[in-house]
Amino acid sequence: MMPTVYDIATKDIVTIKSSQTLEEAISKMASANLRTIVVINDLEYHILTTTLLIDFRLEQTDPKAKLEALDLPQAKALDKNLNILNILNQINSSSEYMVIIDHKETLVGMISYTDIINNIDPQILMEKQTIGALILNYHPTFAYENSSTLHAIKQMKTSGNDAVIILGDSEKAVGIFTTKDFINLIHLDCDLTQPIANFMTAPIKTLHEDSTIAQSLEFIRKQQFKRIVITNDRGAVSGIITQKELLRVVYNKWIDLIKEEGSRISKTNEELLQSKSELEELASLDYLTKIYNRQKFESFLNYEINKLNRYDDASFSILLIDLDFFKSINDNYGHLQGDHVLQELARILKFCSRESDVVARWGGEEFIMLLPHTDIEEAIVVAEKFRSTVEIHEFNNGIKVTCSIGIAQFHKHDNRKDVFTRADVALYKAKDLGRNRIEIEVLESLKN
Ligand code: GH3
Ligand code: MG
Ligand code: MG
Repeated sequence: MMPTVYDIATKDIVTIKSSQTLEEAISKMASANLRTIVVINDLEYHILTTTLLIDFRLEQTDPKAKLEALDLPQAKALDKNLNILNILNQINSSSEYMVIIDHKETLVGMISYTDIINNIDPQILMEKQTIGALILNYHPTFAYENSSTLHAIKQMKTSGNDAVIILGDSEKAVGIFTTKDFINLIHLDCDLTQPIANFMTAPIKTLHEDSTIAQSLEFIRKQQFKRIVITNDRGAVSGIITQKELLRVVYNKWIDLIKEEGSRISKTNEELLQSKSELEELASLDYLTKIYNRQKFESFLNYEINKLNRYDDASFSILLIDLDFFKSINDNYGHLQGDHVLQELARILKFCSRESDVVARWGGEEFIMLLPHTDIEEAIVVAEKFRSTVEIHEFNNGIKVTCSIGIAQFHKHDNRKDVFTRADVALYKAKDLGRNRIEIEVLESLKN
């Protein structure tokens, strides 16, 4: 028994009206723990998927946007009693989700293209697919019954087929002549100028093109024919195929279907991965300067600390950078100009750093740098390069700024909080001593 679409449908569905918002849909999906939600607009159905949600997030779609404004893909509505084979020819992989309705047009379930494909096996395909649709590329060779045998043989040879369909006056097939018949003919040394009708096999048994593959194979088996001649509604021959070719075509058709489904799945996976990494990137960047934010910096820092404690690796250093009198930049030029300065400063920081250095915005007008495999002497060189570059740089509108930098080095088994405090103390010392300068940490052991 072939399952109906309802048999294999997901009945656990959540719906929402298209006049509601994206935000409301997300909250419904989250509380039902579902990856899809059906959006209803009168008798039209649309599907909102997690994949689409990711897209909306990336496009920064307003969560308060109404669902009807989002151009969601429409889902085909299928009658719940349809058997899955009936719909195989109506759907394709572009209609990913479909909804199931009962005779009162009430929504009763949802089904995906993958669900359908997964429920169809090759046997079912053979029972569904018609021979006519399969053999479109198999063209028969014809000869009239009163043409000479030699002519018919030449026809067969030039076409590359191993059989000729012999037609009567009314263009109907009256017989068939195959390479096997030809061998007998040579063997018996027959006169090839005789009409082909004398040597053909007649009558010819044909199969209608609406027959299924299963029926076709059954026909071949019963008749013990090597090939099938297929006719259309008008009784004219529309194709010919051997048993071997038929099996090969069925097999290929099945392979194609599997391949198509396989590539669809891997495409979806790629898209998901891509969106995921784009989201991760968005979440780790500072919105203004597009360099790493504090959170991301902390994760890099943890990584470096773990590495240092686990292996006997060289130490690393951090630079805490604070712009001098930045408040007056805002006061004199406006907040927007201040923002430009921060953006440009981030670019300078990136420019002055190595590929392996981590540059991040610590907050406000403070930046932080992590310099792996760098001791305090080397860190001083980097900090000084940075300080002097900023000092001579002319920002937009001729704005000039300077910065102060505190430097600390992380030692094996150092305390994460301590190293920050040391960098901070060094930074304040730089401020105290007149700004536009760098200062290094003072280690406990060296105090007093
Ligand atoms: P100091 O040399 O002592 O560091 O002086 P300062 O003015 O830089 O220090 P303060 O901490 O008093 O002020 C920091 C200023 O940075 C105040 C704030 O308006 C500005 N600021 C922080 N974040 C942003 C931002 O995202 N954009 C702009 N334009 N200004 C910011
Ligand atoms: Mg500050
Ligand atoms: Mg400052």
